[in-house]
Amino acid sequence: MRKPLIAGNWKMNLLYSKVPSYVEVLTKELQALHWTQATSGVLLAVPSPFLGLARELASKQGFSVAAQTIHEKSEGAFTGEISVNMLKDLGVDWTLVGHSERRQYYNETNESVALKSKAALEHGVTPVICIGETRAEREANQTHEVLRKQLAPVLTALKGSDAYVLAYEPVWAIGTGLTASDEQAQEAHAFIRSLLRAESPALAEKVRILYGGSVKSSNIKGLMAQPDIDGALVGGASLDPTEFAKIVAFSR
Ligand code: PEP
Repeated sequence: MRKPLIAGNWKMNLLYSKVPSYVEVLTKELQALHWTQATSGVLLAVPSPFLGLARELASKQGFSVAAQTIHEKSEGAFTGEISVNMLKDLGVDWTLVGHSERRQYYNETNESVALKSKAALEHGVTPVICIGETRAEREANQTHEVLRKQLAPVLTALKGSDAYVLAYEPVWAIGTGLTASDEQAQEAHAFIRSLLRAESPALAEKVRILYGGSVKSSNIKGLMAQPDIDGALVGGASLDPTEFAKIVAFSR
């Protein structure tokens, strides 16, 4: 049984000074909705300057904190980047890797995503590895091919490990208000799980696959009812802690 994981991706939003009130509201709302750590995991992917404070406050409430990206090297002359060593030193055990915005605006490739994921795992940081097709690729019936190409170097680099999470995020559904239908999402998740199964049946059973793309409290239940959807990666709707709490609570 895979425990659901609901991750909020703040992207470049909110402020350091708002972190305490966000965590406080999220905690109260989740209590009111009878959430417990046993029912689902809560992960907050916050901007780098917030990581230390967010970890300190969130960990007291049973939430985890993630970086939004890392560099594949442990240290060096890479101005503006953060390394997995730095995350560990802050007590941060999670990171997103290969979000479509990183691929689109910062030229991350399938190969660099694999290197970053490997670096995370080697330091005991769990990567949430994002994959997904563009609208043009879906319309050209290339979804499976794209997912296969995105995942192949990751599966090679992470061979022998099952300590990672995948996120299927169709690019056309991110920040657009367009959600994949429950059936479209399930079909893509089942395909991704079949790629894991080809590596090993145990891997396919263990690895959680999150859905991302305009998830809200009004559509989470249908998505979570699908057998291969193990949680969600939530962008816009995670910025409001009251709405995010509902998404977490409704994911059970
Ligand atoms: C995301 O940032 O990963 C995302 C899915 O964004 P949104 O929920 O806003 O579509």
